[in-house]
Amino acid sequence: MSRFINKKFSTLEAYTPGEQPRDMQYIKLNTNESPFAPSPLVLKRAGEEAGRLNLYSDPTCQFLREKAAELFGVGYDNVLPVNGSDEILDFAFLTFGGEDAPFVFPDITYGFYPVYAQLYGIPYEEIPLKDDFTIDYREYCGIGKNIVIANPNAPTGIVMPLSEIEEIIKTNPDNIVIIDEAYINFGGETAIPLIKKYKNLLITRTFSKSHSLAGARLGFGIGDEELIADLNKIKYSTNPYNINRMTAEAGEAAIIENDYYMENCRKIIEIRGYVTEKLRDLGFTVLDSSANFIFAGTDKMDGESLYLSLKERGILVRHFSKERIKDFLRITIGSREQMDALISAVSDILNNQED
Ligand SMILES: *Cc1c(COP(=O)(O)O)cnc(C)c1O
Repeated sequence: MSRFINKKFSTLEAYTPGEQPRDMQYIKLNTNESPFAPSPLVLKRAGEEAGRLNLYSDPTCQFLREKAAELFGVGYDNVLPVNGSDEILDFAFLTFGGEDAPFVFPDITYGFYPVYAQLYGIPYEEIPLKDDFTIDYREYCGIGKNIVIANPNAPTGIVMPLSEIEEIIKTNPDNIVIIDEAYINFGGETAIPLIKKYKNLLITRTFSKSHSLAGARLGFGIGDEELIADLNKIKYSTNPYNINRMTAEAGEAAIIENDYYMENCRKIIEIRGYVTEKLRDLGFTVLDSSANFIFAGTDKMDGESLYLSLKERGILVRHFSKERIKDFLRITIGSREQMDALISAVSDILNNQED
């Protein structure tokens, strides 16, 4: 740390992204990327756009915004394309949080939420999940703070019914409720239709998981047009060209070819069922997932040892050292072949251990 850093950041603990090692070819099941390649039109249009990288991108993202509005069934003024959904979350904490506008979220959820709160000096409260790792929506009803909930939640994969989400939104009319729908295409019901009814609802979406575009960085904020205008103001106050040309083209093309991605999500859901069953047969506790990952643990081996043994065998999964979940691993659903490799490695590791 230099002596020039603003004191308020000296104790800030940054977010730790999943590792992206280059030392060898791993079976990567640690950052919830899609095992499927981007679709043909995405490759074509992003490739062609490379030749125009000498020119700034369109700061309004007009064409992408129009297409996204169509896809989500909302108006042009209800959607804001962003540089990955991390950026819309960043904007939202900055726009709506403050010393007098605290945030609340579950104790076990996306690890970036407390980082944004700390970054902007926003007080926050973490509400423990129930013992079965579900969210008790009643604890959020009328809480009088800004709320962020991932639905399905990460890293548990557990989904909340829309009726409970709506109850939270309805009973906190003077606070922002952010529903992070990074995984909604893998299970659960979207809250998007509720934006017409509630002015305090912001939904975040990403093309990183469902649309094979993690490396392109594309996400969206969806909400009442006044909320979106506020967020757009922050965008124009920080980085107006936040979406690069190739990503805008890739995003439009991915929406045009949306059926391909929905079919891929269907395949992931099917493979998820298969792996869940296999791991349960091996004695694992596997939470019921509605996402493109599963959260699993066994009492035969602690989470960290299993993570390390898998890594030695070239399979990367995500382990969190947080006390409550340290014996679980978050495993991305990859292709059927990748999952078979995972299952045979896991059973091998457990067998060797018993010898
Ligand atoms: C992956 C993830 C994000 C971030 O997605 P990007 O669009 O790649 O920035 C946001 N929220 C949750 C819950 C995620 O798992």
